[in-house]
This record gives sequence, structure tokens and C-alpha cells, in this order.
Amino acid sequence: MGRVIAVANQKGGVGKTTTSVNLAAALARFEKKVLLIDMDPQGNSTVSLGIEKDDLQTSVLEVLVGESKIKEAILETHVENLFLMGSNSDLTAAEVALIDDDKGSLKLKKAIKKLKGEYDAIIIDCPPTLNMLTLNALAAADGLLVPVQCEYFALEGLSALMDTIQAVQQSLNSELTIDGLLRTMHDRRNNLANDVSNQLVEHFGMKVLQTIIPRNVRLAEAPSHGESILEYDIGSNGAVAYLALANELMRRTQI
Ligand code: ADP
Ligand code: MG
Repeated sequence: MGRVIAVANQKGGVGKTTTSVNLAAALARFEKKVLLIDMDPQGNSTVSLGIEKDDLQTSVLEVLVGESKIKEAILETHVENLFLMGSNSDLTAAEVALIDDDKGSLKLKKAIKKLKGEYDAIIIDCPPTLNMLTLNALAAADGLLVPVQCEYFALEGLSALMDTIQAVQQSLNSELTIDGLLRTMHDRRNNLANDVSNQLVEHFGMKVLQTIIPRNVRLAEAPSHGESILEYDIGSNGAVAYLALANELMRRTQI
């Protein structure tokens, strides 16, 4: 059975989308069949893979509100083994539709149930809020990957996320585990980043992944070319780091 991993942190700009896209591409390069689900109405994961978000025929929205079958929403990408269910700003409508439904937070889980045998990994890129879309992702996930940018307020935001995870474990999804906290955009020359990184390890121990994603301009450039870092610059530090992350997660979980 494929592992469903939600990439979540309610803070914006911490590297959720960069991690979702490049982890998905790295797993695909290791010959895993991967589905990337863009749960953010900003559609950044969709665009990062070179797909026109405003031309989507069927997107996550139609699947969540039951207007389309999930298979109709899955697109091939130019990356071998990597498939996408894309989004655009229409997805904001889902929030309203789902909130009035008592099973509103379980729509994604139900929709992907049949797919779990078909993929080795399903990666869900979450929006930067704890809304119905994120709840759908947390309810559907086996594991959670939390990108953390090692800066002053990082730890504070994490305690709110941990409370949410606990609430989800007690209600929607008792099986949800933390696959790892991932340090992103790390600059070794920055003392504050090193301090926060050490505090993170003190506080969360083994939950902190060994792989650290460095700050690397190539990672920021790749999306504007519609490519993952592996197509854009396989020799970059960013590419090496995301391949290492894929390896570490394959070792730690059943991908
Ligand atoms: P989120 O999805 O959490 O909002 P993004 O992945 O979109 O965060 O990252 C925020 C910004 O930082 C983007 O412009 C992205 O290109 C850039 N970025 C992300 N990770 C890195 C990195 N390791 N090095 C340099 N820039 C990065
Ligand atoms: Mg994002």
C-alpha cells in the first residue's frame, strides 16, 4: 500500500511546496510511482511542474465536492513516474462547500482510498492555514512531514501545529504519525539558524530528520521553469538534499 504523506505547517513560506514538488520528483527518480496532490488554492505545486493552473479541466475541487471521479483529475507530468492532481484559486470554494457537510473533512481520504494500491507514495502539499483543506489532508495522511525554517518564531508555530495534530489523532485519524520535521532553507553560517536547529533537536529528538535542506537559489529558480530541481539542476546542493530526503524517508517509512 502506498504511503500518504501530508506536507504541512500553517506558517507560509517555510518550504512546503518546494519540499512537496522536489520530494515527489526525487521519489519518482528512485522509480517509485508518485501522486502529488496540490491542496493549496495558490496552485504553486501545479505551476512548479509546468502545468497551467487556470487551464485545468478537472482539479482537486471537483473531486472534493463529488463532481468528478478522482481518476479524471489525475494528470501525467513530464517527469516519469510522477502524476499530479492540480489546483487553482477555484479551490477556495471547497472550504465553503465542505464546512456545511458533517463528513466534510473526510472527502479526500475517501477519494484516494482506491488509489492507495496504485501508488507507492501520495504527497499532499497543504495550504498555509489550518482550514478544511488542511484537515482533509491530515485525515487522509498516514504520515506528516513538517518543513521548518529555523528562525526565531519557528518553534512557537510548531506548538500550535502539534496541538492540531493531537486533535486530529483523537478525532479524524488515530493512525496519523509524524514522519519527520524537516529543516529547510538552512544557512550554516547563520548562528540563529544553528541555535534554532539545535533547539528543535532537543525538543523533538528523533522526529527531526537528519537531512537538512540548504538555502539554494536553484531551488527558488526551478519553479519558474516548470521543473523540479532534478531536471533544472541535478548537480545543485538543493537536488542532492532532496534526493537524500527521499532516501531517508524510504528508510524510515514503508515507501
Ligand atoms: P510554502 O509552500 O511553505 O509557502 P515555498 O516552498 O513556496 O513555501 O517557499 C517559499 C519561497 O522560498 C519560495 O519562493 C521558494 O522558491 C523559496 N525556497 C524554498 N526553499 C528554498 C531553499 N531551500 N532555498 C532557497 N529558496 C527556497
Ligand atoms: Mg506553498
